[in-house]
Amino acid sequence: MAQETNQASGAASEETAIGSWKTSVTWAFRSTRVVTAEGLRPATLLVRSGRIEEVTSWEAVPTDAHLRDYGDLAILPGLVDTHVHINDPGRTHWEGFETATQAAAAGGVTTVVDMPLNSEPETITVAALEAKRGAAAGKAWVDWMAWGGVVGNHDQGGNEAEIAALIEAGVAGFKCFLVNSGIDGFTWVDEAQLRKALSVLVGTGLPLLAHAEVAAPIDWATGEINAGVLCSYDGRVDWRRYWTYLASRPDKAEMEAVSLLIRLAREFPTPLHIVHLSSAEALPMIRKARKAGLPLTVETCPQYLWFAAEDIPDGATECKCAPPIRDKANRDALWKGLIDGTIDMIATDHSPCPPEMKNREAGRFDDAWGGIASLGLALPIVWTGVTRRLKDRSRSLELLAKWLATEPARLAGLAGRKGALAAGYDADLVVMDPDAEWTVAEADLRFRHKVSPYRGAQLHGRVLETYLRGECIYWGRGEGGVRGVIDPKAHGRELRRTV
Ligand SMILES: [Zn+2]
Repeated sequence: MAQETNQASGAASEETAIGSWKTSVTWAFRSTRVVTAEGLRPATLLVRSGRIEEVTSWEAVPTDAHLRDYGDLAILPGLVDTHVHINDPGRTHWEGFETATQAAAAGGVTTVVDMPLNSEPETITVAALEAKRGAAAGKAWVDWMAWGGVVGNHDQGGNEAEIAALIEAGVAGFKCFLVNSGIDGFTWVDEAQLRKALSVLVGTGLPLLAHAEVAAPIDWATGEINAGVLCSYDGRVDWRRYWTYLASRPDKAEMEAVSLLIRLAREFPTPLHIVHLSSAEALPMIRKARKAGLPLTVETCPQYLWFAAEDIPDGATECKCAPPIRDKANRDALWKGLIDGTIDMIATDHSPCPPEMKNREAGRFDDAWGGIASLGLALPIVWTGVTRRLKDRSRSLELLAKWLATEPARLAGLAGRKGALAAGYDADLVVMDPDAEWTVAEADLRFRHKVSPYRGAQLHGRVLETYLRGECIYWGRGEGGVRGVIDPKAHGRELRRTV
């Protein structure tokens, strides 16, 4: 048996596995804590030609297999992040395939699904999708897919006519806004346009993803703030205060949007997905809709589970995102919604911009670009959060895999191939040390701009190795176990959804 040991204790002295992989032989990845599709257990994953051939018992390592024994470290399915703004082509100075997918690889994310806005052109036509494919060529370190966009384009009519061609071209589904997106080329849709889009999607199985905030409550609140009626301090309007920004995007904006989407889900038998739910006030109606069997799924993001309005200092525009981070009670309720299954999954909504657009010096929340950079940090953030709330660490590991891999893969149409450790799936794995404690430093951030509210965060759980289709693409050991090595070659492929 060609045996390689890879215990945590011996890790620092080992050579990186990058470049040493052959796909023609059988590799056996084993640990006492493998999060298989059936749950957490001691197991061995037999991998050949980039696929998991078999999930077998811990002892059952074939004599001709190359063994990598991970001791008690956790092996999880490679994460699938279905909400990433790569911004490429067109705004590569904001982010790009190279930097985004390397950040993903270092965080155990083996598939990203790119949002159709913030790139230029926006992914609302097949020509734009082709431009994106050109931008990604040779620059994807992990597998990727594209969401198409459904837009209103109020002066010229919407792009409903493009939907069928985009489906044919292989997008994972469609994203739309019910409110101003901040990007001129990506206009919101009204109810009539939503109906049109949904009627085209019925029968395809592709989901419509909606940014669930409507404009009226936001416009009203912003007007009241600027008139000095709402949230004024001694008659002064202070946009440097986080509470001013929070008041400008009230729960009501999310409630009205979610309620509209539930109404439509009753009417159209086709998957509808709420992206980045922030308001826990919407949970009771979501719970009810799901109990009634409506085809509705929901995601939330690490920022809503980690931060709370009470802790955000004045001027901290790196914390601006929409919908906004709300208070501590709301954060606790979101965790409850996740643990009881009302919220299906977690995606980052990684949405960076050049530092100057965050306007940190002025610190005005109304002037700053909204979006939080966090690609590759979700695993330790969510792990740290869930273990504070659930005593059962085995269940917590299983929930991590569900929220960050299995359910997002299903949303993108990748069930059977990504998001689980089971026979026939791609050998996308992440090896995590659940007990490691570390503080997020600039050098740990691999996305283009190092602006992130997570700098300085103290986290538990560290990604040690990431495998994409059986190849090691990230080796996070080395001195002190931090920083890590990225595969010099880009092995990511585009995945296309077939109907
Ligand atoms: Zn987004």
